[in-house]
Amino acid sequence: MKGAWLTDQGGGDVTSMFRVSERIHAEQTPYQHLEIYQSPLFGRMLVLDGAVQTTEGDEFMYHEMLAHPALVTHPQPRQVLIIGGGDGGLLEEVLKHPVDRVTMVEIDEAVMRASRRYLPTICGAAFDDPRATVVVGDGIAYVRETTDRFDVVLVDSTDPEGPAVGLFAEEFYADVARRLTPAGVLAVQSGSAVYQRELVRTARRNLRGSFATVRTWLATVVTYPAVVWSFTMGSLGRDPVLVPADEIAGRVAGDSLRYYTPPRHHAAFDLPPYLRRETESD
Ligand code: SAM
Repeated sequence: MKGAWLTDQGGGDVTSMFRVSERIHAEQTPYQHLEIYQSPLFGRMLVLDGAVQTTEGDEFMYHEMLAHPALVTHPQPRQVLIIGGGDGGLLEEVLKHPVDRVTMVEIDEAVMRASRRYLPTICGAAFDDPRATVVVGDGIAYVRETTDRFDVVLVDSTDPEGPAVGLFAEEFYADVARRLTPAGVLAVQSGSAVYQRELVRTARRNLRGSFATVRTWLATVVTYPAVVWSFTMGSLGRDPVLVPADEIAGRVAGDSLRYYTPPRHHAAFDLPPYLRRETESD
């Protein structure tokens, strides 16, 4: 495949192309088409239905910015739930905190199997951590049926297609809110801040049905089309913009973070005026 290019069609109006040197693995799973590529610049890349999910080269940007702003917003998270996240990168970030238990519910076992085998630099030893419980199943049904309570719930899903559609719905967010402890936090990947702005608004609107505090923040994820990615949080307790920088510094100190810092936490929530006006208009 020398000189071949992988094209990620993004939202149709924006595309990313990556030079790849080898397709290491490919399979059709019950839910999606799964591929692993080798690329000179980004190392190994996980691709689902043609969309780049994570790469060795920039996974930390996405995983750190979904995990840590939510975890530090809760004063002392002990029970954490991850929906999706089959590559294990988010699980690895959560386990950097003094949590007692992390439950991860991933619908497609093939994603976890391929990630353990081909992406060890992303998941590390996270799947084997005694604090981690992995459930193969639909996160929507799991949240509806579980009697467990969680301090923080993180939704690391694919785009709102197929099994992931319901993960952006008001009903699902309400079910999650019922499973949260009093200062609980729900954080979701809410799509591109460039070509999925309607999705950002939808996530915010649907979260408002169950959460008094709703905040959106941004990160640069180089291998995602149009690069600027958004996350949105609903909090039953603290407002993430009011978490003191020195507290954040104390809680993530020495965690070998490569992207997330206390100043970046606050800067990420300071949305540029065009986006603030647009996302806060409903
Ligand atoms: N960071 C990536 C992104 O933003 O596009 C997502 C990475 S992660 C691999 C996405 C995972 O969500 C996939 O493995 C997919 O199988 C899983 N997923 C989709 N819908 C799901 C559902 N209803 N319940 C549990 N997992 C789901």
